[in-house]
Amino acid sequence: MKIAVASGKGGTGKTTLSINLTNYISGMEDFPAAILADLDVEEPNSGLFIDGETIFKEEKYKYIPEWDSEKCTNCGLCDRVCNFNALLKMGKTVMVLPELCHSCYACSELCPAAALPMKPQRMGGLKEIQAPGFRFIESRLDIGQEQAVPLIAQSIEHIEKKYENKELVVIDSPPGTSCPVIEVAKNSDFIILVTEPTPFGLHDLSLAVDTMREINRDFAVVINRWGIGNDEVVKYCDDNNIEIIARLPNMRRIAEIYSEGKLIYPEVPEFKAELYKIAVFLKKKLEGTV
Ligand code: SF4
Ligand code: SF4
Repeated sequence: MKIAVASGKGGTGKTTLSINLTNYISGMEDFPAAILADLDVEEPNSGLFIDGETIFKEEKYKYIPEWDSEKCTNCGLCDRVCNFNALLKMGKTVMVLPELCHSCYACSELCPAAALPMKPQRMGGLKEIQAPGFRFIESRLDIGQEQAVPLIAQSIEHIEKKYENKELVVIDSPPGTSCPVIEVAKNSDFIILVTEPTPFGLHDLSLAVDTMREINRDFAVVINRWGIGNDEVVKYCDDNNIEIIARLPNMRRIAEIYSEGKLIYPEVPEFKAELYKIAVFLKKKLEGTV
């Protein structure tokens, strides 16, 4: 089972929740083995909180068409089939813009002259770390690479092939509501949307909810920094029939522990009590009773 921890914007605490939740459930007897996957590939930072031995490393490549001027007959078809404006036909020249290419193969497969063979280009790397109690997987885009989706897709494929769906995988997702988070969400069994009880939190949560409903995903909400702001997020969830599975408290001590790069729940019982609620909820999800 893959659980994506997502949010409509960055800075809502999804990394804090992902790390603490994975550590917490990895210590529970009646849970499957846990894996934490940081697929916020543009800025993965879960690893800052994890000590362990690197046990696997792999370079990741995406495939980009390379124009062969010798073979090209200048028919112009490639320019018309690319949905991402990653190909431009200018006069007798075809230009490929790698940073816009989604590696969909359409131009390459449809080119009648086989003048656009797909060539590998490094986009980043994936590594696995054996942390105490669980496996940590981190995918990171190289500096200058702009397409997160191909690396996310390959990372999910890696997890699915290697772990055969026996483990509980907690995915620290990219923030926002665009293609990277959709790629994670559509490949996950359940989504935890992390938000804050503030007007900004509500705005971003409503966008995230719209996105999850659009792609038909099962989700629930965790409110972080509970105690600040107002009750509009709770009202919104009530009105829209969205379950709030936990309320992580707003405490100065939590910020201090976080800034020291340490786990929160061993030192803050109120935080641990909320993680327990999430664990109980996930257990029921695993058993198919909610
Ligand atoms: S589809 Fe192929 S042959 Fe036609 S313009 Fe593009 S590269 Fe050239
Ligand atoms: S592979 Fe797809 S996205 Fe990339 S240039 Fe070709 S048609 Fe466009």
